[in-house]
Amino acid sequence: MSWKTLDDMDLNGMRILVRVDINVPVENGVVTDSTRIERIKPTVDYILKMGGKPILIAHFGRPKGKVVLDLSLRVIRPALEATLGRSVTLLETLEGAENLTDEAKAAEVLLLENIRFHPGEEANDPGFAARLAALGDIYCNDAFSAAHRAHASTTTLAHLLPSCAGRLMQAELQALEAALGTPKHPLMAVVGGAKVSTKLDLLGNLVEQVDHLVIGGGMANTFLAAQGLNVGASLCEHEMADTARAIMAKAVKTGCEILLPADIVVAREFKAGAAHETLAADQCPEDAMILDAGPHTVARISAALENAGTLIWNGPLGAFEIPPFDTATNAAALKAAALSKAGKLISVAGGGDTVAALNQSGAAGDFTYISTAGGAFLEWMEGKDLPGVAALKTG
Ligand code: AMP
Repeated sequence: MSWKTLDDMDLNGMRILVRVDINVPVENGVVTDSTRIERIKPTVDYILKMGGKPILIAHFGRPKGKVVLDLSLRVIRPALEATLGRSVTLLETLEGAENLTDEAKAAEVLLLENIRFHPGEEANDPGFAARLAALGDIYCNDAFSAAHRAHASTTTLAHLLPSCAGRLMQAELQALEAALGTPKHPLMAVVGGAKVSTKLDLLGNLVEQVDHLVIGGGMANTFLAAQGLNVGASLCEHEMADTARAIMAKAVKTGCEILLPADIVVAREFKAGAAHETLAADQCPEDAMILDAGPHTVARISAALENAGTLIWNGPLGAFEIPPFDTATNAAALKAAALSKAGKLISVAGGGDTVAALNQSGAAGDFTYISTAGGAFLEWMEGKDLPGVAALKTG
């Protein structure tokens, strides 16, 4: 797989249409977390340094093809200006973008209004994409987290102009390629979270690719129950038992070792500080919930990590929002972080709750790569071709 990067393009004097993801959380009209904006800064800075003019294309929320005032990028602009350290001119209409005022022509960074205000964006309308293409000379996609959507500004536009990956997209693709494309074995995956049903494709793909698969969190309960163990009042999808057994059978065929909790931390209440006890996995009382994996399980995960070359992680090993049921997640994450820091492990993690859990444990900083993408990261873990990435491929 190959794609061009900004280094392959002559940017001087060019208008660069940059698809970015600045779909940041906003409360009472104020951006509460600018991480996604910080991540696009290297791309914008580089384009400007090379004499190009960045025209940012972004979405915000789900206006569904209509103008929704609350979802105007006007709300994001101050945070964008603060993070980029530059003035940003918002082009409120496509007509305005097609007929730039002198002031807009002089602006350092231009920003198109929420691209999803236009029905042609999500419909991937060729006419709309052509209108966008006419606004620039080069297309740069820096929105890996929107790459699982086949929209006008994420796919078709790439075919209409000379195209390249931005710095963030480049970093994501390189990290993901190192983790699943040409990984250093043994390759290990940690998959946790609430339900098996939301991660079926992911588990199905991983048992074909990885050497060790750790299953944790609520979804491990479904696997324990499928093996005939009593999981009491735990979160469990009993109707998925056949599916869980099929995944385990597939793993035997592909030589993938599945690691399930050998010991469990149970409680009677789902709340922080709830009275709890640690038991063997087959000892869950009828009225108790499994909320975390126990120390013996963590030791087994740590031993596997010591031996692993590469780790991919999505989902917590327990109910990490309510301590002490974050213990297994924290311990395993810190182990992976220490091994990564020592250069012994390549570790890649992604997905909304995963990033929160790894940040909370203090492990995130030492992971090799943390993806800011949610859905796109999961689809990549599922082995799916991402339309936004495929559109950038050159050969
Ligand atoms: P997901 O969005 O699928 O990654 O799931 C993350 C959620 O799963 C978090 O909110 C966790 O609190 C929850 N979770 C993890 N383990 C358990 C468990 N054993 N019982 C109940 N919820 C859990």
